[in-house]
Amino acid sequence: MCATARRALSGGEVNNQPHFSHVPDYPMMDFPEPLYETTHLQSRRMCLVCARKHAESVLRTTEKEIVPLCKGCAADWNCHGYLILRRIKPGRLIWRTLVFKMFHPFQTPSLRVIWQDIKSLQAWAAKMKKWM
Ligand SMILES: [Zn+2]
Repeated sequence: MCATARRALSGGEVNNQPHFSHVPDYPMMDFPEPLYETTHLQSRRMCLVCARKHAESVLRTTEKEIVPLCKGCAADWNCHGYLILRRIKPGRLIWRTLVFKMFHPFQTPSLRVIWQDIKSLQAWAAKMKKWM
């Protein structure tokens, strides 16, 4: 458990917007497409943050799914919010995606689905560039 979650649990901090509370320099109005987490996945996906496990939830805008998350990365999202997205490095993501497919060659998601996910994440990140 991270320090922020411990503080929240101990009642030291009352905050209605936990995902933004850790990045006080990021004003809300500068987030044109804020993300929220939902466990409803449209199809089986790979976690794009670690690119090692199947996703169990997804970060999405009101319009589309942006970042599928595994259980561990979802916990990090709850602790660190948008900072976890900085861990995503394009070169490493592509390399790990290929490794992931090597270990799960006949399982969904297909490389095509993962590639579409990476593309939509890039499109979102381009809009949010100064934050990434
Ligand atoms: Zn993950």
